[in-house]
Amino acid sequence: MRIPLIAGNWKMNKSVDDARSFMQIVSDQLPEPDQVETAIAAPAILLETMIEANGADRLKIGAENCYYEDAGAFTGETSPQALSEMGIPYVIVGHSERRSYFNETDDIINRKVHAVYRNHMTPILCCDETMGRLEAGEKIHWVVSQVTGALKGVSEDLARQLVIAYEPSWAIGSGKSASADQAEEGCYLIRQTVADLYGDDVANEMRVLYGGSVNPENISQIMAKQNIDGVLAGGASLDPETFLQLVHYQK
Ligand code: 13P
Repeated sequence: MRIPLIAGNWKMNKSVDDARSFMQIVSDQLPEPDQVETAIAAPAILLETMIEANGADRLKIGAENCYYEDAGAFTGETSPQALSEMGIPYVIVGHSERRSYFNETDDIINRKVHAVYRNHMTPILCCDETMGRLEAGEKIHWVVSQVTGALKGVSEDLARQLVIAYEPSWAIGSGKSASADQAEEGCYLIRQTVADLYGDDVANEMRVLYGGSVNPENISQIMAKQNIDGVLAGGASLDPETFLQLVHYQK
């Protein structure tokens, strides 16, 4: 059985004080992790504060990015080894903002996926899609090529643990979510791609999330879909009360 994962991606939106008070509000109001797993990915500079403030320890604290080398002369980068030492379980890799603003290619993303696994963490691999491609009917090739590119050289055992997020870039931060059917279509396609690469067993174990303008109003419809195992919420994860509404979505 795939345990739902309701995750937030704070991006670069919170101060240290904001992060601490968010944790104090949500920590003891989260669901049992064997029912619904909850996570927040935050900038590296906030992680220590969040770990210290995570009283009940139900919320998994993830990173939004890391470098693909463990250590060395890479000024300003975040070491995956150091994240692992801190006890970080998840690292977002390949977010569309990293692909578009920081020129991350499939090759870089593939190296980062390996770095995260090498350091005993789990990647939340984001795959995007643009409206232009959707209209041009190119979506299938695009999402498939991102999944295939990111997973080069990844073993079956590691692929099993993977989390992939389907995040159409036109739905991110736009207030215009994909419909539940569109979200399901993208997530299904991703699962099929993993099935083609590793077989049905792995594809059925691996979790696929939807991201893009998820909010307390649309989450239940999205979560009702067969191939959607959770969400990756940006804006709706920033306010503690709204995040709590997401994690307690109606089944
Ligand atoms: P929004 O929920 O703000 O659209 O952001 C989605 C996202 O990019 C999550 O990674």
